[in-house]
This record gives sequence, C-alpha cells and structure tokens, in this order.
Amino acid sequence: MEHSHPHHETCAHESAHVARAPEALAEAVEACATRGVRLTPIRKQVLEALYTTHRPMSAYDVIDGLAAMGVKRLAPVTIYRALDFLMAEGFVHRLASHNAFIACPFRHNHGDLVVFMICEACGGVDEVTSEPLTHALQTIADDHHFTPRARVIELQGCCAHCREKEPIAS
Ligand SMILES: [Zn+2]
Ligand SMILES: [Zn+2]
Repeated sequence: MEHSHPHHETCAHESAHVARAPEALAEAVEACATRGVRLTPIRKQVLEALYTTHRPMSAYDVIDGLAAMGVKRLAPVTIYRALDFLMAEGFVHRLASHNAFIACPFRHNHGDLVVFMICEACGGVDEVTSEPLTHALQTIADDHHFTPRARVIELQGCCAHCREKEPIAS
C-alpha cells in the first residue's frame, strides 16, 4: 500500500513547536550573552530557520529556508560552521540517520540523553529527555570505560497523530 506523505500539512505538535520558537530564540540569545559566546547574525538565522519546523532539515534545506526568509544563498560550509556552533551550545541536535538537524525545543543539560521519535509517515520528530535513561546509559558507558561524545537514541516509527489517521492493519 502506498502511503501518502503529507509534508505540507501542519499537525498539532508542529504548531506547538513553531509557537515556542520566538521564546526559544530569545533564550538562545540570552544564553549566548551569559556564556560570552557570539550568536552572529548567520548563526541566529540558521537557528531561526530550524525553528520554523519540527522536521529535521539538511544543510541544503537550511539554505533554502533562509532564502525563503530573504537571506542570500549561503555556501554549505558556512551553514555547517553555524550548525557546529549551535550544536556545541546545545541549541541544535543532529539526527545521524537523516544527516539532518533539528532545533532543540528544551533547555536541558548538555550531556543529557536525548531520545528522538521520528515519524516515518509525516517526518515529524519529537524529542524527549529521560533522567533514568541518562543514568542507565552512563552506567553502561562507565562499565566499558567508554566516554560518549553524543548521547542520542533514535526511534523510527509512527507518531500518535498519524496512527490516528491511518490505523496500522494487524
Ligand atoms: Zn534537546
Ligand atoms: Zn506522524
């Protein structure tokens, strides 16, 4: 059976994510001032572009998004540098499975384990942090004398919103 991919449809949690964008951006500006790091215009615009959706964006999607916002087309290397900064500061996460980036809707601690629930029907991504899981993973890493750089778990599947629309046949 062919699934339709309603890429242009805005679902409820997309609206919530986008609605929080101005607040999250203001928090990022404040956090940079506190930490003494520079949120340059390009870094801020890239973060703004990522906050327009709860779907992961590739560097090329970001370039297109910025163009739609009236920013001149930037070189991918410029975008990657801005993304590196935004990831280092914890404002953006990378989805390895998609080689794409998503703005963090929370202000969790930098080392927290992040669980992404990636919907294969609508492309939406929900982010959750879990303290018990963070501790459990740290214990596993410690047992193996392993120092994790990134703590990310990616779950692929179907979000509640899409499951409601298209019940999975059993
Ligand atoms: Zn996050
Ligand atoms: Zn979905």
